[in-house]
Amino acid sequence: MHEAAIVAGLMKILERQAALHGVSRIGRVNLKVGRLKAVEPQALVACFEIFAEGGVAEGAELCVDHLPVRGRCGACGCDFEVKGYRFRCPRCGGGDVAVTGGEELYIESFEAAEAAEASEGG
Ligand SMILES: [Zn+2]
Repeated sequence: MHEAAIVAGLMKILERQAALHGVSRIGRVNLKVGRLKAVEPQALVACFEIFAEGGVAEGAELCVDHLPVRGRCGACGCDFEVKGYRFRCPRCGGGDVAVTGGEELYIESFEAAEAAEASEGG
């Protein structure tokens, strides 16, 4: 259940960012997660709901966007998307592949919930 640890960290970031931007309630969080992180989106959302309770992100929607695994060939420098965990260069067939993507985990953006008391000045 490393999702709980991930979400705990995300919450801290969200609360700090919300305070910085004067957001009192978050409506939606866009999260980017690399496929190598092997997190269960459903578990992540479930944890998010628990951690968000009583905080700035309570009731917010968590949108998880998966990022592909990427690799770079050490022999020819080819940069490619790794599919099906096949770490082999599609150009030269070399196996000397360095992982360059897929381990990301960050908040791309978040949106403030619509304020109930929005005032429009003329
Ligand atoms: Zn290659």
